[in-house]
Amino acid sequence: MKRTVVECSQGARYATLWWPLGSFNAVRLGGVRIQRCPVHHRWERTRRVDPAALSLAERRAAESIRDIGII
Ligand SMILES: [Zn+2]
Repeated sequence: MKRTVVECSQGARYATLWWPLGSFNAVRLGGVRIQRCPVHHRWERTRRVDPAALSLAERRAAESIRDIGII
């Protein structure tokens, strides 16, 4: 399963599983969803980040942080 880089409401970026048809651990609200942020350890509004908008270093840094416990 491919991970997608997302950004929480406080600006932390991390990699998560972004299911096209819903998720077991998140509430979907269109392109934004509420999920538990592994950086701030709280439920936050999280949006998907366009990978093309990130530099390679930014993408690597985001992908080094992953939420856990899914699948
Ligand atoms: Zn956060």
